Amino acid sequence: MPLTKKQLTELKELLLQEKANLMGIKWNPETDAGFGGDLVDQSTGLTEQELRLELAEHDRERLLEVEEALKRHDEGTYGICLESGEEIPYARLKAVPTAKYTIQCQEMLERRRFIRD
Ligand SMILES: [Zn+2]
Repeated sequence: MPLTKKQLTELKELLLQEKANLMGIKWNPETDAGFGGDLVDQSTGLTEQELRLELAEHDRERLLEVEEALKRHDEGTYGICLESGEEIPYARLKAVPTAKYTIQCQEMLERRRFIRD
């Protein structure tokens, strides 16, 4: 079953929330643009660009994953497995909103990577 509009919105909010968390700012879905717009730290006035420079490498990598997922939202490909083209179940996305693959494909890819290494 394809994701409903409501589920998509919910998952996008999870991603925006995580993005804000990673950047160390509070995100308020009621007042902040967030959707498409740049985040700004309301308390310090720091822009997204400035906040990004302060991030540790680990957080920066995670942020990239979150942003890729948001991009897939905008392109309308969110929730589709990049390997098999199948729909990723809502329950999986709810647990891992940045998931790019179904569990089956994820496991297969990890095994392949393991063998290659
Ligand atoms: Zn798949």
